[in-house]
Parts: sequence; structure tokens; C-alpha cells
Amino acid sequence: MHNGVSETEVKQTAFIAFGGNLGDVEATFESARACIEQLHHTSVMQSSLLYRTPPLGPAGQPDYYNAVIAIESALAPLALLDALQEIEAKHQRVRAEHWGPRTLDLDIIAIESQKIVSDRLNIPHLEMQHRHFVLQPLCDIATNWQHPILNKSASQLLQALLETGETALQKGIVW
Ligand code: AMP
Repeated sequence: MHNGVSETEVKQTAFIAFGGNLGDVEATFESARACIEQLHHTSVMQSSLLYRTPPLGPAGQPDYYNAVIAIESALAPLALLDALQEIEAKHQRVRAEHWGPRTLDLDIIAIESQKIVSDRLNIPHLEMQHRHFVLQPLCDIATNWQHPILNKSASQLLQALLETGETALQKGIVW
């Protein structure tokens, strides 16, 4: 324990997905990435390109922006989730509507090859294999990462999704 925050013995690599479609999303993402870098015993190792994607859910929303970063962190999984939810709150995420517009959504996609099933946290993220806007940026930075339950790599999951007829994302930008 350090200041009441539980830590694991060694740093582990985790992948964090960023999403948002309200306000200056690129500035919000840069600010959130800087906040993550400030977390105790945590470093940002890599960032995917930043993709602009059409919205899921209610029509008439602005386009979404999505990216994935790789971090190394000694925070325990629930401590990391708490920290990410504080960063979301700091960026004034409005949780008014499920699937609705939001300034910042941070999800833990995976922590190495860990499997976690609990009320607050599922690792790997339960929907990741269905989300083009997660798999494409994940492949930018960790194409060989292996899903510990589906036993497929990030690139195999992306390929499987593309075979269902999904169109490729527009080329992303460096952020
Ligand atoms: P969302 O509306 O997508 O931000 O979902 C937030 C809720 O999902 C939170 O209450 C979390 O406890 C829960 N959750 C479960 N698994 C994860 C995960 N891998 N990453 C982030 N939130 C998660």
C-alpha cells in the first residue's frame, strides 16, 4: 500500500481505450493522457493513432474520437479503474444517456493476459472483440497481444471483425 492505494509487486502493461465526442476531444485526450502519466508508479509507453469514427447509439450525435494507449503501472486493477474514473470525472464527463454523447470515456481493455470477472471490472473488456474503434488502435501498438479467453491476437480479432463486413476506419492522426 502507498497512501492507501493498492499496488501490485511489479509493473504490468495495460491498454486503455479513450473515447469521446463532445467539445475539443483531442485536447481532452491529451489532458487525460497527461493525468494518466501523473498516476503513481505509472508511465505511458505508447499511443495509437487518433481515429474519428461514426457514432453508435442515438442518431444526431457528433462523430466519436477513439484511441488506445499502452501504460505500465504498478496500480492494482481496481485502483487503476478508480483513478481512470476520477480522470473521467475531472473532464466533466456527462453520464446523462447510455450510449449518449460524452466528453471522455476511459476503459481498461486488457492487463497483460489477466482475466478478471467482478462487479466493477471485467478484463479483458467484454465488448472489445466487437469494437472496431478499439481493435484498430490496439493493433497500432500491440498487434501481437493475445486475448487470454478467445485465444486470438489483436490482429486476428480485427481481421475476424473486418470479415463480418465492417468497413475500415479512416486513417488516424498522431496526437
Ligand atoms: P462505461 O459507461 O462504458 O464507462 O462503463 C462504466 C462501468 O463499466 C463502470 O461502472 C465500471 O465499473 C464497469 N467496467 C467493467 N469492466 C470495465 C473495464 N474493463 N474498463 C472500464 N470500466 C469497466
